[in-house]
Amino acid sequence: MPETTDVVIIGAGPAGLTLANLLQRNEISCVVLEARDRSYVEERQRAGVLDHYGGEIFAAAGLADAVIAGAPREKFLELRYAGEPHFFDGPAHAGGRAGVIVPQQLLVRRLLGTFVDGGGDLRFAAAGVALHDVTSKPRVTYAGGEIQAAYVAGCDGFHGVSRHSIPSTDYTFDHGIGWYTVLADAPPPRHALMGISEHGFAAQFGRGPTASRFYLEYRPGAEDPRDWPDDYAWQQLRLRLGDPALPGGTITDKEIVEMRSFVTEPMAYGNLFLAGDAAHIITPMGAKGMNLAVADADFLAKALIRALRGADEAALRSYSDTCLRRTWDYQEFSRWFTEMVHDAGARSDPFRRRLAKARFDRLFRNEAAAAYFADMMAGTASVE
Ligand SMILES: Cc1cc2nc3c(=O)[nH]c(=O)nc-3n(C[C@H](O)[C@H](O)[C@H](O)COP(=O)(O)OP(=O)(O)OC[C@H]3O[C@@H](n4cnc5c(N)ncnc54)[C@H](O)[C@@H]3O)c2cc1C
Repeated sequence: MPETTDVVIIGAGPAGLTLANLLQRNEISCVVLEARDRSYVEERQRAGVLDHYGGEIFAAAGLADAVIAGAPREKFLELRYAGEPHFFDGPAHAGGRAGVIVPQQLLVRRLLGTFVDGGGDLRFAAAGVALHDVTSKPRVTYAGGEIQAAYVAGCDGFHGVSRHSIPSTDYTFDHGIGWYTVLADAPPPRHALMGISEHGFAAQFGRGPTASRFYLEYRPGAEDPRDWPDDYAWQQLRLRLGDPALPGGTITDKEIVEMRSFVTEPMAYGNLFLAGDAAHIITPMGAKGMNLAVADADFLAKALIRALRGADEAALRSYSDTCLRRTWDYQEFSRWFTEMVHDAGARSDPFRRRLAKARFDRLFRNEAAAAYFADMMAGTASVE
């Protein structure tokens, strides 16, 4: 006989762990199946900021103390244009709504600890996960057994198995931009920093008190930053950030990110619901990937709780449409932001360079433009 539970959650990233905690706090039973081991999940470094909307989700669920206590709030974003600093005060243009600076691995570690310490059932190294009968009585099999559930949440990221159980249409876009990203033992900047210049885009974000993550734009196909000596990367960072005195440091991690966007529609099929990167990939511009994962999980949790308490499935049935509205809003914002900071480079044609400059200038002289930017950075509930 298979085991039974209310919800099987596949994947223990930000989406799966947020959902698991929200269900647990509402006494809905769930089992989380995670392909990797605990240390891999807890150490994976990616995003650095939970937007204001995400912070409110944890506060409303009574989880703020457990997951974001003591984390500093975002204030200024420094946009350095050709070496000239411009400070954008997002919270001032968004009614005081500020993001929370919390590295993804810390958020994941805290969500994981809270769920497991509260008696949650999280099974690591779950190999061979497969979904069955998702339009009737869903079952999930894996190397450790078989679980029957009322609902399945596919939170297993872009490379997971869940989205392949949905007859869907995929939308993809290649931005034609690559980022070489390095994590270094280098003091964090005072504020999140983006360098816009004719030499190409660069950025520096703090990752805790002694480390920074740096980004350098490159041309996929024409250059391979994996061949760049570290000295060259530091030289390019100093040039593009307009800071000849930028201190270097030991590089502890290197990654290539090719800027691609992806959305699968619909995000639900029968009793299977996708959340986070399983349904959409967004470029890191605007820092919305982790935040979309948390927002999907929150909306899904509310809809599942409502259905499982015997109310109705109305919210579950509108889950896909609601989450897709936010997803496309954020995709559009991310593309808008990507063009503004990348098209300024000498690699762009002169017309696009001037468009990018006009977009940038408008942020600092037009309140409506500043308010739009700040609202998207803070995250929005307006789609629900
Ligand atoms: C270099 C980089 C920088 C980024 N920067 C930012 C940023 O600044 N801001 C931001 O908001 N976002 C950023 N992102 C995006 C963000 O990290 C993701 O959007 C976020 O991790 C999505 O969470 P998720 O839970 O949906 O998926 P994931 O974090 O991918 O978690 C999915 C989980 O499912 C597990 N899994 C996969 N397949 C299976 C299977 N078959 N069975 C069981 N488990 C499975 C995986 O092991 C994983 O633990 C960045 C991403 C990268 C790569």
